[in-house]
Amino acid sequence: MEEMSLKVYNSLTKKKEEFVPTEKDKAKIYVCGPTVYDYIHIGNGRAFVVFDVVRRFLRYLGYDVTYVMNLTDIDDRIIERAERENTDTQTITVKFIEAFFEDTEALGIERADIYPKATDHVQDIIELIQSLVDRGLAYQVNGDVFYDVSTFASYGSLSGKRIEDLVAGSRVAVDESKKNPLDFTLWKSQKPGEPGWQSPWGMGRPGWHIECSTMSMKYLGQTFDIHAGGVDLVFPHHENEIAQSEGATGKKFVKYWLHNGFLQIGGEKMAKSLGNFKTVREILKKVPTEVMRLFFLQKHYRSPIDLTDQGLQAAGSAANRLNRFYQKLQDMVMTEAPLEEESLNEKELQVLNTHRRLKSELVEAMKDDFNTPVAVSRLFDMVRELNALLTKDNLMDGERALLSQAKQDIEEVDSFFGFLRSKGSGANSELVNGLMEILIDVRKELRSRKIWDLADKIRQELDKNNIALEDKGQETAWRVK
Ligand code: AMP
Ligand code: ZN
Repeated sequence: MEEMSLKVYNSLTKKKEEFVPTEKDKAKIYVCGPTVYDYIHIGNGRAFVVFDVVRRFLRYLGYDVTYVMNLTDIDDRIIERAERENTDTQTITVKFIEAFFEDTEALGIERADIYPKATDHVQDIIELIQSLVDRGLAYQVNGDVFYDVSTFASYGSLSGKRIEDLVAGSRVAVDESKKNPLDFTLWKSQKPGEPGWQSPWGMGRPGWHIECSTMSMKYLGQTFDIHAGGVDLVFPHHENEIAQSEGATGKKFVKYWLHNGFLQIGGEKMAKSLGNFKTVREILKKVPTEVMRLFFLQKHYRSPIDLTDQGLQAAGSAANRLNRFYQKLQDMVMTEAPLEEESLNEKELQVLNTHRRLKSELVEAMKDDFNTPVAVSRLFDMVRELNALLTKDNLMDGERALLSQAKQDIEEVDSFFGFLRSKGSGANSELVNGLMEILIDVRKELRSRKIWDLADKIRQELDKNNIALEDKGQETAWRVK
């Protein structure tokens, strides 16, 4: 395994730290997944893309990664929606889990190793709550169970909040049954018409925080490496997860906490509750997968990003530039040519050295807390450096070998970026390319026979579908607008 020395910013210590996993060469990652009551929006999409890249980069470095993402399939919002639609909660969750898989796949996100659902783990959740009750860290009031925050001395260490301040500033409606306004729900007693499970405290259902403690520890162990989610989850969700898990096991729960910044619209967080959201499926009708990924990764994962048309357009032309380059590269180096440095002339050696330096800077940037903005700009520097060779009609052997090496390198780094258009799916699949070639050919034929109206119709119809044709001399190129 190559020298790794990856550094990650740990929200718990507020420092960049060297990544040292609990088990050598393994990386165990848990990412908070969606509550499946609706389609995910593109802000959620950002979180899932960002940690998809983290996961893929760890694998690129040689780690054996286990990636777990929970599905919260019991929650107030799910129950409300089921009531509104006059159906049961399962009908809602089945539909939106399916949609979630489609949407994340459409964003080029790899499947997690495990997608545990809360409703499949109620027994495990009850056991964890029971152990908290047994240890005197949780108490029951009329069928509800609360975590007693005052028993956990380091409560507030992740969010940097102090219990006293939280209590003083607490706007939580005073709940007579709780000892302390910050105590949070582990188990909710069943209300009429709501789904429920049998428990030592009567019929009820689990709270949200305890689901993540239970399922992360079940699949990754009591101490695991990375726990991630959006920055809105720091408090109270992740703070509560720490209290529950460490309270129950007496061990450190998570080594590194990673939090992504918000996707914003006009400076405001994109959120369902604010009504300023766009669903992933809506936006992907206009914006190809690789453009969306590039748009996200041009910013650091911890920074906020504003979703703007200009930003998407800029990402669109960059993604096109990269893919045009890659297509040419593929055409020019059909066969792999071994690279023998001795046979390169001085100029070629210089190109090779620059290329290697840029690639290593790219990887170093990724190792520095996944600094994708720098890494992406090195990728584009690589493209610029190599472009000159691609305009040549006849390649020398050395040049061909060099381009073949470059192609491999670019494919290698794309294993974690996901910017190259896939052959099998999306707007630029082989199938689409083939069909476009036919349309362009037919249009050419129509024009040569002076059947202008039909030729124009092809262009106009494509235009309506966001595909632009560009005539350059005898050639016609196409692109997604
Ligand atoms: P939720 O279903 O609301 O719990 O969100 C799923 C994931 O998306 C969580 O990790 C959230 O922190 C994250 N998330 C929600 N809204 C945004 C946003 N506007 N920008 C980035 N991440 C978000
Ligand atoms: Zn969670």
